[in-house]
Amino acid sequence: MHDRTYAPGDLVGVLTTEPLGRVLDYRAPETGCGDGDFVEVPLGPRRVLGVVWGKARGDWDPAKVRPIHRLLDAPPMRAELRAFLARAADYTLTPLPQMLRLATRAPGLTEGTALRRVYRLGPTVPNQLTDARHRVIEALRAFAGAPMTLGELAEEAACTPSVIKGLVKLGIVLEEEAPRDLPFPPLDPKGGATLQGDQIAAADALIAAVAAGDYSTTLLKGVTGSGKTEVYLEAVAECLRAGRQALVLLPEIALTAEFLKRVEARFGTRPAEWHSGVTQTERRRVWKMVATGNASLIVGARSALFLPYQRLGLIVVDEEHDTSYKQEEGVLYNARDMAVLRAAIAGCPVVLASATPSLETWANVEAGKYTRLDLSARYGAAELPDLRAIDMRPEKLPADRWISARLAAEVAARTAKGEQSLLFLNRRGYAPVTLCRACGHQVGCDHCDARMVEHRFQKRLVCHQCGATKPVPAACPACGVEGRMAAVGPGVERLAEEVAARFPEARIAILSSDLFGSARALKAQIDTIAQGGADIIIGTQIVAKGHNFPLLTLVGVIDADLGLQGSDLRAAERTFQLMRQVAGRAGRLEGRKGMALLQTHQPEHPVIRAILGGDEEAFWRAEAAERRAAGVPPYGRMAGIILSSPDVAQVFDFAAELARRDTPLRRIGAQVYGPAPAPIARVRGRHRVRLLVKADKTAPLQPALAEWIAQLKPPANLRLAVDIDPQSFL
Ligand SMILES: [Zn+2]
Ligand SMILES: [Zn+2]
Repeated sequence: MHDRTYAPGDLVGVLTTEPLGRVLDYRAPETGCGDGDFVEVPLGPRRVLGVVWGKARGDWDPAKVRPIHRLLDAPPMRAELRAFLARAADYTLTPLPQMLRLATRAPGLTEGTALRRVYRLGPTVPNQLTDARHRVIEALRAFAGAPMTLGELAEEAACTPSVIKGLVKLGIVLEEEAPRDLPFPPLDPKGGATLQGDQIAAADALIAAVAAGDYSTTLLKGVTGSGKTEVYLEAVAECLRAGRQALVLLPEIALTAEFLKRVEARFGTRPAEWHSGVTQTERRRVWKMVATGNASLIVGARSALFLPYQRLGLIVVDEEHDTSYKQEEGVLYNARDMAVLRAAIAGCPVVLASATPSLETWANVEAGKYTRLDLSARYGAAELPDLRAIDMRPEKLPADRWISARLAAEVAARTAKGEQSLLFLNRRGYAPVTLCRACGHQVGCDHCDARMVEHRFQKRLVCHQCGATKPVPAACPACGVEGRMAAVGPGVERLAEEVAARFPEARIAILSSDLFGSARALKAQIDTIAQGGADIIIGTQIVAKGHNFPLLTLVGVIDADLGLQGSDLRAAERTFQLMRQVAGRAGRLEGRKGMALLQTHQPEHPVIRAILGGDEEAFWRAEAAERRAAGVPPYGRMAGIILSSPDVAQVFDFAAELARRDTPLRRIGAQVYGPAPAPIARVRGRHRVRLLVKADKTAPLQPALAEWIAQLKPPANLRLAVDIDPQSFL
């Protein structure tokens, strides 16, 4: 089954995950080997994982070339994945070894198949259990189907192994030997949801695209409740019928549980999961089963794009506009764009699903590169609730109140009827600023140019840039005056205080990512709310994403202007998307339209007017025209170069010197802007300087950037990161 291009002793090139910046020469082992083979090779005193990457470079003394230690028991990496890694490396200007690391991020790939001891739930669970024992049962239930080792289970249940052993003795938990990596049960593509109207046409179009087995990109546009998921699951079904593998990317783990339920309902069993909430053992299993074709549907976070699919037949990027698809640390890539690249190389369709597509995708549809399918709302034509602005300028609210009289009255009316209200404020914590009333000093982070945010639940000030915390000071750190430190401005925790004071009878739930220890705890809270366990929900942007609350009929946006501040070129687009998504949470109940109220100090702002007007296409056209005129993405190309160092003079000097040597960029007509301090000029004690490169859409940007940067070698403590198509400018 292996292609043995290279005879024993032949010189071959091997790419490892070590940061060496090049392919290394080795001799083929006694069995011979072929391109794509996973191998273990000696490197100095160690043995490391590698992939046979083609012919040897031949620039090494042949007498000193060492043999490949052994071939691993895994199907070779296909040419398609190798090409994808190489193209993605070129696009993002990332060294190839780092890309390979993304594609091999599963522990123990060099280990053979063996048995291991795993734990699962026995037939009977008694009612009376200690807390620790109860947590073990809960952890096993939460990971239903995925066997867990003693260490993993102890960690998940936050207990000692002896607690688990005790349960084994009682027969409540079973201990057994199991093969390491079990195949995933096959999904049954028969049956399916009953589709209606434009859902049928959309599903047929996607099924045809999958059956064609060629690359294509389709925007599937529809609001929550329009049946987007049911429609693209039919494309998944077609992919399964054709014996190929499908990948569905989701932006948040918190959304996965609900999605898995729908998959199980549609296909009779759960798919493979790949995200940070999956145990290490399970990661290894998923990687191996994807590589051997024993996992047919993979649901995952952005890094699932780098798995070794054998027969990739479809990629779906759900909520394609979501900013969390952009990886902002390590390898800087946008998973949506990389999904399109992988689909193009693999020769399969990709579906971008969203209610509020990104301007990039919208522009690609306009340019005829992507196909567009629209789903209307299932019940009647009213996609959006009744949208109104509340002008906050004439409101005379006390300094510690943010809910206007109008919004408060609407909330009270909903609570009286047993309906739910959502108050949206995209700010975690209690108060964004802690200020000294004596001298005006604002408490900042010691390591970053950022103000510290008070988190009253934790009783600490927290830096949202680096995570550093300190206690709320009793005396001002600047002037020493005691008892004058004051919280200024609202976060969700403070808003909850106002709500509790004004609606003492109401049951309040706060949804903010930092208030939950795990994705599971967050999901439990979401389930409670969905079942009517709260009257007023106070939430940050996690409420904008796909959760369905049937009793929710009112959305109040506390500060609609928040996202419009700052110089980010996507500020308007993001605010528009976020407000539409949040407003879309207010559903119809008993035939009555939901309502969304936006508190704003600038009701005349074009973005606020566009949100209220509801004419989405007009907003996109206006936004596109502005970006085209400015020559910025998606109508021009940009790259951010972030340089950072503990030494402020050094980093500015280096950046200035780099900016001066701009010949390679000028040759392609690109311009350099800066150096300028990054908007957050110091993070974790490192001073950050930014250069911005702007080029025409068709300019060959990456080779020019590579040549430009290669002119100067950064000093040891200076870091340089290239961000192609930057999404945020922090
Ligand atoms: Zn002071
Ligand atoms: Zn900080």
